[in-house]
Amino acid sequence: MRFKRQTLVLATLFGAALAPALAAESIATNSPNGVPLSQRVVAYSIDAKLDTVAKTLDATETLDYKNLTGQPLDSFPFHLYLNGFRPESSFSYETHANGGIRAVENSYPPEKSGGIEIKSISADGFGDLSKSWSFIAPDDGNSADHTVMLVKLARPVAPNETIRFRIVFHDKFPVSIARNGWKRDFIMGGQWFPKVGVWWKKTGEAQGAWNCHQYHSTTEFFADFGTFDVKLNVPQRYIVGASGVPVGEVEKSDGTKTLSFHGEDIHDFAWAASPNFIVADRVFQSSMGPVKIHGLILKAHEGQAQRYLDILEHTMRKFDQWYGPFPYKQMTLIDPEPGSEMYGMEYPTLITAGTFWGLPDKAYFNELVTEHEFGHQYWYGMVATNEFEEAWLDEGINSYTEVKVLGSLLGEESSVLGYPLLHMSDTEQERLSYTGEATYDPMTRFAWKFYSGGSYGGVTYGKTTVVLKTLESIIGEPTVQKALRVYFMRYRFTHPTGEDFLKTVEEVAGADGKTTDLRPYFNQAVYGTQVLDYEVKAADSEPVEWWKDAGRNYKGDYRTVVSLHRKGDFVLPVTVELKFDDGSKTYEHWDGVDRWTRYTYIKKAQLVSAEIDPQHQIWLDTNFFNNSYVVANHGAASAKVSSYWVIVQQLMAHFAAWVV
Ligand SMILES: [Zn+2]
Repeated sequence: MRFKRQTLVLATLFGAALAPALAAESIATNSPNGVPLSQRVVAYSIDAKLDTVAKTLDATETLDYKNLTGQPLDSFPFHLYLNGFRPESSFSYETHANGGIRAVENSYPPEKSGGIEIKSISADGFGDLSKSWSFIAPDDGNSADHTVMLVKLARPVAPNETIRFRIVFHDKFPVSIARNGWKRDFIMGGQWFPKVGVWWKKTGEAQGAWNCHQYHSTTEFFADFGTFDVKLNVPQRYIVGASGVPVGEVEKSDGTKTLSFHGEDIHDFAWAASPNFIVADRVFQSSMGPVKIHGLILKAHEGQAQRYLDILEHTMRKFDQWYGPFPYKQMTLIDPEPGSEMYGMEYPTLITAGTFWGLPDKAYFNELVTEHEFGHQYWYGMVATNEFEEAWLDEGINSYTEVKVLGSLLGEESSVLGYPLLHMSDTEQERLSYTGEATYDPMTRFAWKFYSGGSYGGVTYGKTTVVLKTLESIIGEPTVQKALRVYFMRYRFTHPTGEDFLKTVEEVAGADGKTTDLRPYFNQAVYGTQVLDYEVKAADSEPVEWWKDAGRNYKGDYRTVVSLHRKGDFVLPVTVELKFDDGSKTYEHWDGVDRWTRYTYIKKAQLVSAEIDPQHQIWLDTNFFNNSYVVANHGAASAKVSSYWVIVQQLMAHFAAWVV
């Protein structure tokens, strides 16, 4: 990035000669000379009018889709996510069955109904398509699920040809549900416009295909990069935050105003509107240039504004240092309405965070949610993986970097709760979310095919975090960090797969002189459901000449026998530390292949304790309490659990459940 910055400095010094290039500077990114950062497949222009009383929106959308697939395309699928908020949708069936507040209701509350209606659709040169589309349900065949429509054309769009769709649509927003809709006079426009699917060719696959999944209770999103020009007409008293950067405001005589926004090299566009925002801005200097941090904080939370902006700025700095530059000119943070389901959501260059009135200063909820959602700017926003099919690549990697960044900023042991007698680390919080349903699903399961919402969350967020934490014990923390940086720099603005990530880790490990034999680990940890649980089964010292007077006066050698047991199916080499009462320590390294192993020593000293993984690096171990064994004569085993601690972790898991 230093190179790019030097380019800009040179461009300024020799301004006259380079003036035409500078004139092409990007509006929404700090890309030198305005060079596009992504392969821009789509260009959306949307002109929308929001009815803040009826909670509806009417809009015209123009979509230019450039066919870069290398083959003719005669059909185009579009996501219509708002149609998930209907009782007969797959989203509703799944949320009803899967826990969450809708599980306890026996009728569908009318205020939670939402939807998107296609008033008309056409394409230039292809004519009216209003009768050429139908709903499809590629995932589950639910014909009443109207979250994907397929448009068929009379003739195909040739390779490299651009087709211009013109769509007129009407949104009805539900009362806040799944980070969408309204609460009091706050309105969140997420997944609010017809969005075309992705023609996707997975790594190693020759053929591409449309990838346009239905909306599910656990799934997020997947879309192509491009540009967005959005006009939003709202009452003049409303303040609006949106993806991209603001580029215009026109006040009208009818008491409304039209706000214009422009986004580049992003794959989605969201906005939030409320008359109750206060603006809290500052500038962060990224390694590509200045970024405006634009905070829209509810008046009731004014006292939290600096806290929000501080953690956001510090997080942005860490990401910039560790993983790569943030190229956009603006990052918008929305403080959502209290009591809504709008807390903790990511969109390109816009996040919703969340706070509580009276939140104690060292209960780091603000920090957790703000860091997490910003992290998605990297793991989703720029490295745009398929969230339907490989959610661990965004939620999981993002949870790992959350642990690293918050640990660095707030302290490893106190990154969730920071009081001297009441503290908790984010890593432990993630690990606890995983241990509950660790065996049901591999990380690679399609998001809507997990056994339950609990399994999806525990495996996707929690397990991925501890898999990467445990990887640190194999190739070292600096190499894991370097691998993430290489992965980000190589795959930003593209759609990589899990194998792209794993191969990057192997490659960087090799370059760092670490083992590249990581497949046995990945096969179990990433692709498998094996449980990792090692225990010290037995450990004791007895006089060698036990038949003699073995009482207090025994002066001979002792025979120490330590038995280790691999309780789970997951095989991982482990280290055990043995402490003796003469102060000596012995370390053994066990490959873990057999179900158990035994170590025997003859020495003067007696065993005090035996501990597997003495440096506490194997976070994948589902039971820490059987890792250590303290010989009875030498004092009580250290208690690792206390009741308050269990209560606290449940509380934090409850907090964390909001963060997606
Ligand atoms: Zn998330």
